[in-house]
Amino acid sequence: MTRYAAPGTEGAIVSYQSRYDHFIGGEYVPPARGQYFENPSPVNGQPFTEVARGTAEDVEKALDAAHAAAPGWARTSATERSDILLRIADRMEAYLEPLAVAESWENGKPVRETLAADIPLAIDHFRYFAGAVRAQEGSLSEVDEDTVAYHFHEPLGVVAQIIPWNFPVLMAAWKLAPALAAGNAVVLKPAEQTPVSIHYWLSLVSDLLPPGVLNIVNGFGPEAGKPLASSPRVAKVAFTGETSTGRLIMQYAAENLKPVTLELGGKSPNIFFDDVWEKDDDLRDKALEGFTMFALNQGEVCTCPSRGLIQSGNYGDFLSAAVARTELIKPGHPLDTDTMIGAQASSEQLQKILSYIDIGREEGAKVLTGGERAEYDGELKGGYYVRPTIFEGDNRMRVFQEEIFGPVVSVASFDDFDDAVKIANDTAYGLGAGVWTRDINTAYRAGRAIQAGRVWTNCYHAYPAHAAFGGYKQSGIGRETHKMMREHYQQTKTPLVSYSPKKRGFF
Ligand code: NAD
Repeated sequence: MTRYAAPGTEGAIVSYQSRYDHFIGGEYVPPARGQYFENPSPVNGQPFTEVARGTAEDVEKALDAAHAAAPGWARTSATERSDILLRIADRMEAYLEPLAVAESWENGKPVRETLAADIPLAIDHFRYFAGAVRAQEGSLSEVDEDTVAYHFHEPLGVVAQIIPWNFPVLMAAWKLAPALAAGNAVVLKPAEQTPVSIHYWLSLVSDLLPPGVLNIVNGFGPEAGKPLASSPRVAKVAFTGETSTGRLIMQYAAENLKPVTLELGGKSPNIFFDDVWEKDDDLRDKALEGFTMFALNQGEVCTCPSRGLIQSGNYGDFLSAAVARTELIKPGHPLDTDTMIGAQASSEQLQKILSYIDIGREEGAKVLTGGERAEYDGELKGGYYVRPTIFEGDNRMRVFQEEIFGPVVSVASFDDFDDAVKIANDTAYGLGAGVWTRDINTAYRAGRAIQAGRVWTNCYHAYPAHAAFGGYKQSGIGRETHKMMREHYQQTKTPLVSYSPKKRGFF
């Protein structure tokens, strides 16, 4: 086990500035109204820096800078942009450990995840889109013997991006890599809970981008996010966050007829068919781990497998083993490499989860393990910790229907294939799902029948850059990752050229 030193203490590999301003036009700019807000670490609840509190004036400045930079950036070749993204990725790789520690300290998640997943996935995203932009080809339609339609991909111009706090650097990478690769200038607003990981990342890579191509305005949703999403000066709004906020973002953008992509909430079913339990082998073990994935990232994942559906034939045996496996999840200091579950990202999120645990109990769901806050002395005193919690109940209960965004899974049984699909689809959301079975027909049919953008089969929580990700139903509009998302950051120009001297003959 390694314990990384907390930022600001002896031996730390990360140190923070005492204050973070906005990043506009290639430099740090103080907030127009001179206001800052404190940023606490969820590890101990203590503020460790302060951050500029952005308003409409700051957004306007950032948009000025982005508009000044956009035409030059759009004219760069795909090779030039690709090289810059590759250099960003290389820089991140060279600073993998500090980035992972910075992300864990600000968000509360265990460093074993940020080292092995969050930051490597973010790096890979820059590399993937560096390749994808060079591999992109235009197309040509032969309209007739003398007429040709060419299809070129042009950037949109200046785009707005608003992201949540659950994977600060990865969510920024998911948005920035394709937008920059496609030749857009960006104004990004990080979540108010986790702006500093992104500024730390920026301190490592900002010299690689021309000034104004990437601008960051910090602040709260209604004060900084709303003027950004409502601006007629942005060509598109890309948003990740709660479904209720996504609805507002769409309304703001609709006023200006601007396109949106929305990555929203989920209530993902994780379905275990009887045959998974029938042999005591690696797949059974993998399925049990798959069940416990509800606690990955403290359950603060849009695709958290928060509804565990277990077939009735082996329900009792599977569930007892799943409870035992959940109780092995090791809590502790997020900067210990063997800690498996860390702190919730904010005290508001902690309170929200605890209130849902109360709601579950009140509506008659049974707590099989967990069901309470975890409190520690010493270095973790004051931090936001929750024990992984398993509820047993019924799919119509609120703890089965509403996104809790914590390490809480609600379990119910099902009888057969049709019953499983019916319960799985009985939700407003449609982001992710898991299907566990040894039967290839069941796997295929379930994958097609479940109304969700991503259905994992015999695996869960894998996010390769080259697999499309996004929601059905109330979970979103559009896709992220995969080269198909270039479409969201480009528009098609079609020069239609006649090579014939013959006139049309209408006039
Ligand atoms: P949130 O909607 O509260 O906030 C997200 C961002 O929107 C923040 O930057 C916030 O400041 C901003 N915002 C809030 N109100 C706004 C407004 N009126 N106008 C403009 N901006 C506004 O969400 P959150 O609590 O930060 O994140 C958790 C949510 O994100 C969960 O619902 C989760 O499922 C979802 N999420 C989805 C995905 C996905 O890919 N589908 C990924 C991660 C998180």
